[in-house]
Amino acid sequence: MKQIIIAIDGPAGSGKTSSAKIVAEKLNYIYIDTGAMYRAVTLAWLREKVPLTAEKLKEVIDTINITLEPSANGQITKLNDEDVSEAIRSEEVNRFVSQISADKYVREAMVNLQRKLAEGKGCVMDGRDIGTTVFPNAALKIYLTASIGARAKRRLNEYAEKGITGLGFNEIATQILERDRFDSNREVSPLRKANDAIEIDTSNLTLQEQSEKIYKLALDIINN
Ligand code: C5P
Repeated sequence: MKQIIIAIDGPAGSGKTSSAKIVAEKLNYIYIDTGAMYRAVTLAWLREKVPLTAEKLKEVIDTINITLEPSANGQITKLNDEDVSEAIRSEEVNRFVSQISADKYVREAMVNLQRKLAEGKGCVMDGRDIGTTVFPNAALKIYLTASIGARAKRRLNEYAEKGITGLGFNEIATQILERDRFDSNREVSPLRKANDAIEIDTSNLTLQEQSEKIYKLALDIINN
């Protein structure tokens, strides 16, 4: 089968990660959740308990090793060989990840790693800047959106499944909007729809429906 790069970008809670996993599995492609990489950097910084400055972030980046391994649920994220797949989903990481990922040096390091992992392979990669910066020549670019109501509801359900309570719908919606605002307004590689990306509004789609749409678009390219 032809090996192409499928870039899936969009705001928080638009369904990128879940659909990217399904599409990758159907195509037998590798799947890379780039948000997990920025989350791992954030966790490393939190553990160091150092100020949030460009200098300190550079020190953190220069001493850590982030690796991704495929797993039954998509991806295991490792920080210096420790499985941090769960730890990077904490509330604290959520709170700081946008600030950490706005740093130029952090982004350069992660983008280099992302390119190295996927170059020449069949890959579904999800993030914020995959179609605009990481792989501007990706064969298929998808931009997923959804209403804030739909996105907050999904996060609320995800938290409930994990037994995380205490955050209500309104708080979650506020957090999501705050992260989107930060991600869209940063100087380096802001969240943006690439000109040649296909936009899919997932507000009223099931996970199966949105994945099927992306899968069909991919097959059209792979088979032609
Ligand atoms: O996708 P996820 O919600 O896990 O991403 C966490 C954060 O990582 C985003 O809010 C964004 O700040 C950052 N990110 C990024 N570029 C990417 C992927 C994620 O800046 N390609």
